[in-house]
Amino acid sequence: MDGTQPVALSGRIVFFTGAGVSVGAGLPTYRGTGGIYQDSELEPPHARDLAPDRLPGLWARFGDRLRAAREVTPAPAHVRMAELERQHRHPVVIVTQNVDGLHAAAGSTQVVELHGSLRTMRCLGAGHHLDLDQAIWVDGIPGCPECGQPCRPDVVLFGESLQPRVWAAAEQAMQDADTVVAVGTSAVVYPAALLIAPGTIAARQRIWINPEAEPPDDGWTWLKGDADTQVARLTCA
Ligand SMILES: [Zn+2]
Repeated sequence: MDGTQPVALSGRIVFFTGAGVSVGAGLPTYRGTGGIYQDSELEPPHARDLAPDRLPGLWARFGDRLRAAREVTPAPAHVRMAELERQHRHPVVIVTQNVDGLHAAAGSTQVVELHGSLRTMRCLGAGHHLDLDQAIWVDGIPGCPECGQPCRPDVVLFGESLQPRVWAAAEQAMQDADTVVAVGTSAVVYPAALLIAPGTIAARQRIWINPEAEPPDDGWTWLKGDADTQVARLTCA
C-alpha cells in the first residue's frame, strides 16, 4: 500500500516495535537484543558479569552507556504513538524489542519492554527498579537506596532469558489486540519474533511498517517506508 493517505486504526491497538522505530532518534539500526552492544569498543555484557568480582568491571564499561542513552530524545514515530494513546478510546499498548526507553520518554504509559531498558537499573536484592540518579554509588558500583544491594543494568544480558512476567504481558497484549501494527522490526530475532509469527495473531487489522523487510505472511497491510513517515499516517477510528 503506497501513498500518504491516512490509515485508521480501531479497537485495542498494539504497536510491536523494533530498532527501526528509533532510527529517527539518531540511533543506529541494530539487530534485536544484542544490538545496543554491537559496538566494537564495548565487550558485550554477559550474565556472568553479574558475579560480585566482575560487577565493577561491568559498570566501568556500562555506566557511560546508560548515561549516554538518557541523552537520546524520542523520534517523531514515538511521539505519534504516544499521541494516539491519548486520543484513542481503547487501550494502546506498546510491545518493544528496544532497550532505549524512548517510548516511555515520549509519553506512552503502557509499554512492555521485552529486553528491559537502559534508562533504569534493577537491584540484585529485592529487584527494585531505580533511576541512575537514585542509586548510591560506592567504589564504582551503584547501590539500591531501599535495600543496600548492588544494582545491575535493567536489560536482558547475553546468556539470560526474557523475564517470564514481561513475556506473559506481551503475549496477553497481543492476544487482546484488535489491531497490531509492527513497526521497524524484521521479525527475525527470537523469541520476540514468535509474537508475530504466522498463525499466532488473531487481530483482524494488521499493519506492517518497514522500508525493506517483508511481513511474515500475507495477512498484513504493508506500509512501505520509514517509521516516522508511515506512523504519521495513522489515525484512530
Ligand atoms: Zn533494592
